[in-house]
Amino acid sequence: MKVIHLSVECFPIAKVGGLADVLGALPKYQRKLGIDASVVMPWYDRKFTQENEFDSIASGSFYQGSELLQYEVLKEANDQLGFPLYLIRIPGKLDREEVYCYPDEADQWLSFQHAFLHWLKADQLTPDLINCHDHHVGLVPFLLKYSHEFQQFAHVKTLFTVHNGQYQGWMNWNKGILLPGFDTWRWGLLDWDGLINPMAAAVKCCDAFSTVSEGYLKELYVDANGLQSLFESESQKGYGIVNGIDTDYWNPQVDTLIDANYDLNTVSKGKLKNKKALCKKYKLDASLPLMSFIGRFATEKGAELLAEIIDQLLGKVKAKMIIFILGSGDQNIQSDLQQVLEKYPKQIAVYFGYNESLAHQVYAATDMLLMPSRVEPCGLNQLYALQYGTIPVVRGIGGLKDTVIDVQEPGGYGIVFPEARVEDAVEGVMRALEIVNQGDLLLEIRDREMKLDFSWHKSAQKYLDLYTKLLN
Ligand code: ADP
Repeated sequence: MKVIHLSVECFPIAKVGGLADVLGALPKYQRKLGIDASVVMPWYDRKFTQENEFDSIASGSFYQGSELLQYEVLKEANDQLGFPLYLIRIPGKLDREEVYCYPDEADQWLSFQHAFLHWLKADQLTPDLINCHDHHVGLVPFLLKYSHEFQQFAHVKTLFTVHNGQYQGWMNWNKGILLPGFDTWRWGLLDWDGLINPMAAAVKCCDAFSTVSEGYLKELYVDANGLQSLFESESQKGYGIVNGIDTDYWNPQVDTLIDANYDLNTVSKGKLKNKKALCKKYKLDASLPLMSFIGRFATEKGAELLAEIIDQLLGKVKAKMIIFILGSGDQNIQSDLQQVLEKYPKQIAVYFGYNESLAHQVYAATDMLLMPSRVEPCGLNQLYALQYGTIPVVRGIGGLKDTVIDVQEPGGYGIVFPEARVEDAVEGVMRALEIVNQGDLLLEIRDREMKLDFSWHKSAQKYLDLYTKLLN
């Protein structure tokens, strides 16, 4: 079975969040199941593309509106990722340093999708199924079926995976002219509320759609940033498959990015060593319990609550603890955190920015990981936390609700609080702190956490089952 994953992020080439982690791992695990899985993504001017070898395997050109675009397809030469990786390079469109936030984002992703289809046609490639990930490639299911240029691929099955339904790729109808020619009377399939909506188009035109947890699938029927009625009306082709984690890379036993490796038997000593190393560097008192936050500073993540949560914990409640924040994003959130940092300099350390190896060190060092999310389609941070024997303190939503069982439930191993509210989060952290301060209970909880299996094996099999169903 030949499957192409289409995405604009893939670890380690270009990562902004969980989408990249999934693309960097799922195809590798699928290949172990016998699927001929590969990844096609845009070329970026980044470390990975500069430092690795690529073979130029195809090139061509097409019109995007009145602009003639030239593309080149580059294949990673040494198959070092565990799956074939193809990068599409288009001078002026797909040759940038960053993944997102360019003013011509719509043109950028349109050019990627068109170039991909153009290459399929020129090289007569015939995948059995194309797994499109998120709105950036959401027009592909429509174009396969209704673009004159690509009629020969109308039979190719498509699975559209929703990693985040909040972002839908909206564009004005004046962009319609940039699409490859299509049956114009099908325009309604592209439209939602007067705009071209690639996520809506994908849900309407794909053979099936999946979400990255079962809980999130149900939530989309009620709240999907305006698309809830669409998700509901298409629910007969909706599936929830929880993300896994790449245990070759996220594993305290072999992780080369942490100070001290450890396993189930050495977790206490190992975590303490990592904590001491982190605290030494950031001038924190390693004898106190450590709580951390890692992620984007966005309202989705409840990040604007962080400063207030910390202020309550360290000020009002006078909790004896230290806090580490690793993240970037909204400037107002950043300045609120800066203020709280200045108020409690001995108890807080903050790293503003993206730092992959520091993230590993924090998962390994920290006792608790806070996730006060408003929306969390799956969430990978809590899975990494569990793998590293860290107590996740999460708001019970989406994938967090599916993957974390509260310690008050039988077999529980984390803290789940009900709402993305300061009081709820503070209470959750205090409950976690109680566990951290009780040596025996902490050991028992860590033991339960590290025995859990959130590796990709099970979920890769579920994708295979779904692909098989679609192909039959
Ligand atoms: P998202 O909604 O951002 O995709 P996920 O929980 O699915 O959230 O995935 C987040 C991924 O990004 C994890 O691998 C996490 O460790 C990583 N991450 C987020 N922010 C940072 C950062 N500032 N530095 C390093 N890694 C980060």
